[in-house]
Amino acid sequence: MTKGSSSSSSSVLPRSLAAPTCRCSRPTVVFVSWTDDNPGRRFNRCEVHGFVSWVDTADPTEWQKTSLIDARDQIRRYKRETSHEL
Ligand SMILES: [Zn+2]
Repeated sequence: MTKGSSSSSSSVLPRSLAAPTCRCSRPTVVFVSWTDDNPGRRFNRCEVHGFVSWVDTADPTEWQKTSLIDARDQIRRYKRETSHEL
């Protein structure tokens, strides 16, 4: 059993293409989470073991911010329009 510590031949894949493998060494598939906690967040899924890792690994604020700001602006606009009551 030799640990393959071969010299680092730089094979850097773009993040989006480098789908991680599960601990069972199966390739993972990208799914989208629709839970209340992580709506719209993408994750890598093993067909056997389910969730493996997040694709959107940045701050939750990063990928949630966009949709939250959208919603906020819509609400603001709506409130402003309804609060005129002229
Ligand atoms: Zn697996």
